[in-house]
Amino acid sequence: APLVGVLALQGGFAAHVALLRELGAEVREVRVAADLDGLDGLVLPGGESTTMTLGIDREGLAGPLSALVRAGAPVLGTCAGLIMLDREHLGLMDIVARRNAFGRQIRSFEADLDLPGLDDPVHAVFIRAPWIEEHGPGVEILASVDGHPVAAREGDIVVVAFHPELSGERRLHEQFLGRVRERVAARSA
Ligand code: GLN
Repeated sequence: APLVGVLALQGGFAAHVALLRELGAEVREVRVAADLDGLDGLVLPGGESTTMTLGIDREGLAGPLSALVRAGAPVLGTCAGLIMLDREHLGLMDIVARRNAFGRQIRSFEADLDLPGLDDPVHAVFIRAPWIEEHGPGVEILASVDGHPVAAREGDIVVVAFHPELSGERRLHEQFLGRVRERVAARSA
């Protein structure tokens, strides 16, 4: 089975770990730099991006995490995970996220979104969600809400502003593991 990591410093990592294990992956919770060794893919969960940034700094994770992603490991980032990947945080994706973009009053809402490669819409749960305010030409927007991008892809990095792990949705994690398996197969070919 492919070995995937879930950043587990803070936030909603447990639901991602459980779902990925259900889907047959071997999963490691990532808290220190050594936990990144040998990973075939990485999930950055939702939570609080400010707290996550402090944890990443404290543990010296930015360097090794960036090296893993730049080496081509597939990534799935959700909500605060999307924020962590943007130009103003880890700088691994050519996007700028706007935090709490839908307004602090609208703490959460749900919407059905069509995403490429999926036959039926995704039931998306947004919790104080960001949107993508700016993006470079290499970024493909996969879905928007009211004209604001909430799902995007750049190479093997996919980000969504919502929480697929909270609505019984499994297909985004399946697609992620598909990309991970392809990469593992290509590497050993
Ligand atoms: N509002 C959070 C942040 O700015 C993200 C919310 C979430 O991950 N559910 O970090």
